[in-house]
This record gives sequence, structure tokens and C-alpha cells, in this order.
Amino acid sequence: MEPVIKIREMRKVYDLGSTQVVALAGLNIDVHKNEYLAIMGPSGSGKSTLMNMIGCLDTPSSGEYHLANEPVYEMNDDELALIRNREIGFIFQSFNLLPRTTILRNVELPLVYSGLPREVRVERARIALEKVGLAERINHQPNELSGGQRQRVAIARALVNEPSILLADEPTGNLDSKTGEEIMRLFEDLYQQGHTLLVVTHEDDIANHARRCVRLRDGVVESDEIIHEPELA
Ligand code: ADP
Ligand code: MG
Repeated sequence: MEPVIKIREMRKVYDLGSTQVVALAGLNIDVHKNEYLAIMGPSGSGKSTLMNMIGCLDTPSSGEYHLANEPVYEMNDDELALIRNREIGFIFQSFNLLPRTTILRNVELPLVYSGLPREVRVERARIALEKVGLAERINHQPNELSGGQRQRVAIARALVNEPSILLADEPTGNLDSKTGEEIMRLFEDLYQQGHTLLVVTHEDDIANHARRCVRLRDGVVESDEIIHEPELA
């Protein structure tokens, strides 16, 4: 089967005027449907840049990227937005929720551009919030929730478009270890339900939940190994 993410010789160079920073230096990776990857590596090794590329939030300087067999590297901004909405759910370290806006509205927001009627958007947001165990909090605001609950809202928001791939950049970085473990249990459920997961972390305990561990160094893959065999069905 073709990989759902296929990256060849990807380079990303940030131009800072006087200097250039090479964040990705000819990176190659394949990810198949329903894999669960931890992405590790030292600070500055290109983890966030890679996630932004995979999530179609930014475009590479050169190289090829196919997402769900489509050539993302040749797409314009409108096409990128479409494929991103269809395929990708993105989860950030700092949750990135809108304050002074209800949980329901936060989760519904990715659907506002879809042209779906309000009742359908609300229903989908409610279903996503049920999946993360927060259905009873829909009318609260983010500042009324704990850090772990806020991250679960962010996961619901990532799920609302029903994407196949979930990208999480240090999702437990702002959480204590017990709350972080709860978030990882939720990711395990989502993996078991068939999602493809890529989780950036620098904590071994967090990475150990994944099935495959990819380490970056200086913008390339330094090592790539299976850490737990997938269970036989
Ligand atoms: P990591 O997430 O592994 O810490 P990043 O992908 O954030 O690594 O960064 C890789 C390199 O690219 C670093 O040298 C960083 O300073 C640089 N970098 C990242 N984002 C930008 C940006 N928007 N502008 C300029 N340099 C950047
Ligand atoms: Mg980073």
C-alpha cells in the first residue's frame, strides 16, 4: 500500500535576511495509514518545521511531499487549505484555544468555512467533544477548564473535520506527567480507532506510547525504529 505521507529530499530554509537557517536538510520519510509515530530529537533539529510541512501549514523550499497520494508540494494556497482540512488535525503544545469563546464555539470553528449549516456544525462539535469526554462542558470557556481539559478541547477541535491524520507538537509539554498520561491514553484510543498519529515529544515516557520512533538531527532523520510491534488482530 502507498504511504499516506511520502516525503523525499525535503529542504526548508528560513531566510532571515542576513543569514539563512536550514531547518530541514533533505529529509526522507514514509508513514503508512494507522501508524503511530513519536518524533524526537534535540531542540532545533527540525521537529516543528517537519510537522508544519506535513500539516500543510507551510511549504518546503524544495523536495517532494505526497499526502494521501496527492502532490502537496505543487499546490497553491487554496488547494493546500482544502487538503489540510480534509486530512489533517493539528494539536499544539499551548492548546491555541480562543479565550472568551465557549468550548463548543472553539470546536465548531474549523467548520465555519465549510458552508455547513449551524445545526450540523454544532452536532459535529458535540460528537467530537463526546469523544474526548467533555460533552458536559460545551458552554464553558477555556479559562474555566484545567490544562488537561483544554488540551482535550484542542483534540476535539482537531477531530471535528474527521481527519485521518493527527499531528501533535509537544502536546503534553504544558501538562504535569499524570495529565500528560491521560492525554496519551486518549491518543491510544484514537490510534485504536484507525487514526494515523505523529506526536512530537522529548520525553521518553511519552514517546514510549508510540509504535515507531523517529529521531531527527540537523534536519534529517537520524534513526527510525519500531519500538512496539502492532498487535495482531
Ligand atoms: P524543533 O521543533 O526540533 O525545536 P524547529 O523546527 O522549531 O526545531 O527549528 C529548526 C530550526 O529552524 C532552528 O534552527 C530554528 O531556529 C529555525 N526556525 C524555526 N522556525 C523558524 C522561523 N519561522 N524563522 C526562522 N527560523 C526558524
Ligand atoms: Mg519544536
